[in-house]
Amino acid sequence: MKIFLPGPTEVRSELLAQTSQPMIGHHTTAFASLIDSLKPRLGHLLGTQHPVFLFSCTASTALEAALCNAAGKRTLILANGGFGERWLEAAGALGLPADGLLARWGDPIREDDVASKLEQGDYETLVMVHGESSTGMLNPIDPITRILSKHPQVLFILDAVATLGGVPLRMDQSGIDVLVGASQKCLALPPGLVPVGVSARALERSRKSERKGYSLDFNLWQERWTKGQTVGTPAIPQFFAVDYQLKRIEAEGLERRWERHQHMLEMTTEWAKLRNLVPLAPGNCLLPPISCFRFKDDRDTTGVVKALEQQGYLIDDGYGKLKGKTLRIGHMGDWTEEELKGLLRALDGVIG
Ligand SMILES: *Cc1c(COP(=O)(O)O)cnc(C)c1O
Repeated sequence: MKIFLPGPTEVRSELLAQTSQPMIGHHTTAFASLIDSLKPRLGHLLGTQHPVFLFSCTASTALEAALCNAAGKRTLILANGGFGERWLEAAGALGLPADGLLARWGDPIREDDVASKLEQGDYETLVMVHGESSTGMLNPIDPITRILSKHPQVLFILDAVATLGGVPLRMDQSGIDVLVGASQKCLALPPGLVPVGVSARALERSRKSERKGYSLDFNLWQERWTKGQTVGTPAIPQFFAVDYQLKRIEAEGLERRWERHQHMLEMTTEWAKLRNLVPLAPGNCLLPPISCFRFKDDRDTTGVVKALEQQGYLIDDGYGKLKGKTLRIGHMGDWTEEELKGLLRALDGVIG
């Protein structure tokens, strides 16, 4: 089965092989030197001089940890899709004071609305989803960076789960305080390991936070990470795979990898034009690793996805309230243009 889901994505067998190496202890010098070798390379991946931790959990757990460590008095959550709404719900479940700035799924969040909302409230944190995978939409970072430069008390948490490794991202240049990525999407690794970049301001905020807990406390992590250690026993097999995958990414070139994702997006967008399919997101905000289309006549998509599965390909028929209404194709990670052509041919066969 070829996995073109919007996550998890296909993992190359050479990477899977890395995860079946003999176990080592996490308090050994071998493991500490592995962590040390990963540090500058993770920094390059996120575009940061700040520490990048590897949490062993789901990306959602890491995003909750970001809220627990870095949310100040009040948090503003931008939500124009399923994941933005999820973080608003998570903040509520954690008992954190938070407001949503809501837009319809697939509609851009207006810059003016963000600016005026920040003027009104005593916000200390802003959360944005970079790649809103429920709608295949890329929310631009630059306008938010510009607005936040006028609000130095507001920390910027970015959900880059669907974009890290596949879309241009430069944490420090964009003034991002906490950047949460994932292993199972554009990095094309098994799920369960989450790169989290943490700025000095976020470490400082976390020191005063009463809700940061223990296992994902940023400062405790910083203390251990400096010594080449983690808090608790990490997903050691995954660390082997990350090491190997970073070598592959360095060989391809990070910018070349971003371009490959962009090119695959252009391929699906061109293909869809001739097939009565339209993207959910506006044409200038499409998400390079994930396409999300609906049929012009709003035909149900579940049958297409099921028929495609018979051809050996997995894609998705929609997230949350869009289930059965969209086709979501994850052309991310290590998939190539050639392999994507194969999927589009198979899709042609079942769309008819
Ligand atoms: C996949 C995804 C998540 C959730 O990741 P989990 O590892 O399943 O928790 C969060 N945000 C975005 C934008 C995603 O695409």
